[in-house]
Amino acid sequence: MSITFKGKVAVVTGGAMGIGEAAAKKFADLGAAVAILDRDRAAGEKTAEALRGNGKRVEFFECDVAVPAQVESSMNAAAQAFDGIDILVSNAGIQRYGDVVGTTDAVWDEVMSVNLKGCFHAAKYAVPHMMKRASGAMVVVGSVQTFTAVGNSAAYVAAKHALLGLVRAMALDYARNNIRVNCVCPGAIDTPMLRWAASLDPDPAKVLATCDRMHALGRVGKPEEVANAIAFLASDWASFITGTALLVDGGMLVPTGGMGFQESGTGAATKK
Ligand code: NDP
Repeated sequence: MSITFKGKVAVVTGGAMGIGEAAAKKFADLGAAVAILDRDRAAGEKTAEALRGNGKRVEFFECDVAVPAQVESSMNAAAQAFDGIDILVSNAGIQRYGDVVGTTDAVWDEVMSVNLKGCFHAAKYAVPHMMKRASGAMVVVGSVQTFTAVGNSAAYVAAKHALLGLVRAMALDYARNNIRVNCVCPGAIDTPMLRWAASLDPDPAKVLATCDRMHALGRVGKPEEVANAIAFLASDWASFITGTALLVDGGMLVPTGGMGFQESGTGAATKK
């Protein structure tokens, strides 16, 4: 059996670029009709246009996931355009830096509104359409920061931790509806978000080289590598998997003490 989404409808939030774009492409390549929901109209329309062709059905719907009315109307519009919704990839997210003292209320609320509440909104308005199908799959994009923390990222880390709680709650609530809910947790992935984060440093190349080194595999990931995991979790191959989190992190969370300790800690000198 190979993975196919023929006859399925997939909605991808934040699908204009980065991991979301790769997921949209993956679903379209594997036969799904794809609705891209994103707040960036120019990028979203460009991506949808690029993914169409060879009979592939991809539409863009402008939507800020932080605004419930926009999510409700664009989710309903997507369901109307493609006659239902089978799969939701809740991916839209933003990165903001700061410890709790340095994080303003406005920034805290912004991060929570997009990264946590945005997932709540997307699920709230997608699940009724899945219920009409009597089946569905949701994949939420968390992070290695769903399990661990990076300094100076209090709001982002808190939101990404909370997402796993939401995933588990939804997995229980909708299991009886044959709707599975899972989370993918990427390491550093080469997307516009990562490039922007590196650009905040006077030496972005050094930051990106550090990102390479923190993964056991010695490199950052590609958006397509996360899209593959998303597609797996959304597919029938994962038919008995719900409420779980899958790390897609090149082994980042494996080494005790991080990769620096592997390179120069106890025992490192004896390595052949
Ligand atoms: P990008 O910034 O590269 O792309 C995200 C897309 O989502 C952009 O088009 C962005 O639009 C859109 N978006 C942001 N906020 C909203 C919103 N409120 N409503 C609708 N669309 C929105 O991000 P990535 O692809 O890197 O990240 C995707 C997800 O993966 C995020 O949840 C992120 O936290 C997570 N992740 C990323 C990692 C990485 O290293 N890249 C690592 C671990 C997790 P705009 O440009 O206007 O902001």
